[in-house]
Amino acid sequence: MNTPPIHMVDVVGQYKKIKPEIDAAIQRVMESGQYILGKEVTAFEQEMAAYLSVRHAVGCASGTDALQIALMALGVGPGDEVVTTPFTFAATTEVIVLLGARPVYVDIDPRTFNIRPDQIEAVLTPHTKAIIPVHLYGQAADMDPLMALAKRRGIPVVEDMCQAVGADYKGVKVGGIGSIGCISFFPSKNLGAFGDAGMVVTNDPALAEKLRMIAAHGSRVRYTHEVLGVNSRLDALQAAMLRVKLRSLEEWIGARRQAAATYDRLFAGTGVTVPLVASTGRHVFHQYTIRVKHRDSIAARLAERKIPHAIYYPIPLHLQPAYRTAGPQPGPLPGTDIAAAEVLSLPMHTELDIQQQTVIANAVLEAL
Ligand SMILES: *Cc1c(COP(=O)(O)O)cnc(C)c1O
Repeated sequence: MNTPPIHMVDVVGQYKKIKPEIDAAIQRVMESGQYILGKEVTAFEQEMAAYLSVRHAVGCASGTDALQIALMALGVGPGDEVVTTPFTFAATTEVIVLLGARPVYVDIDPRTFNIRPDQIEAVLTPHTKAIIPVHLYGQAADMDPLMALAKRRGIPVVEDMCQAVGADYKGVKVGGIGSIGCISFFPSKNLGAFGDAGMVVTNDPALAEKLRMIAAHGSRVRYTHEVLGVNSRLDALQAAMLRVKLRSLEEWIGARRQAAATYDRLFAGTGVTVPLVASTGRHVFHQYTIRVKHRDSIAARLAERKIPHAIYYPIPLHLQPAYRTAGPQPGPLPGTDIAAAEVLSLPMHTELDIQQQTVIANAVLEAL
């Protein structure tokens, strides 16, 4: 029994494969004397804009900040409503509440885990200031009907693409579909930094200027503050290391997709519901998330056998006390309830091999 340990994510294994380039990038920044913004950040912004086929990219300090800066640029504030999904990481809703606005939740499709565009129109009001679809687990939300509705009603769309860098929808990379795309480079994300980092992207030059200003204390000209901003800048060190990693991103997406296909094969014809990949785009598999009945007892058995696994997310955001706001509460959200009760994410990263996946799949099937 000399199989290597199985990790949920393997950031160290990935680092070791590109160590010389990463270490050289660190050295370069340390010797440059420029540690916040500067040349490395500008170069990384340009490279990301090219990769995503968007016109503008602005580095910031995290994915959460990216979302907050995006909403600030759209003028979201007290009395406003922002339509989003309750089945996502807390940050999506946290920034809405932080800005004094109210999250309005729309149910998800439990097969794709993404927001249901057909349910959005019913919750729009004159106070709706933005719609935030989340491209959950690495798969684009169903953007055509969502964008058609948003355009018809004149409501800007902020794409939470924190889990989906490189995913596409009908051949267009996410981030360039709505008004603003928000990216996280949290270490475990598909393009992960060595610390916190984030980015906002847009095709709108006026919005780009606003986003850049807000991320830097609302200032374009030093000591002149035109709008209320925050301090959310991208470190040069992170940018330099992310530039190295960006060069491997397509290969890594390929590895994730291959690992997903292997899991699909291992679970074919069993009681495991594998993630539905919509025919509309490229899933980049930030997570490989199955659905199983009796999820909690299966998770407990995996824990006993030391098989890494996770539940993203056990409690939907409309049930979280921290984000409770006054006003009407959402009606029934059956798709969300199913997902929260049944999801189970399995190890997914670029260093997985077929032996490890077989061990994982067998453990799940035995637990069933
Ligand atoms: C990770 C994540 C965020 C927050 O990103 P940070 O960089 O950790 O602040 C926001 N939304 C979603 C969907 C995420 O997965």
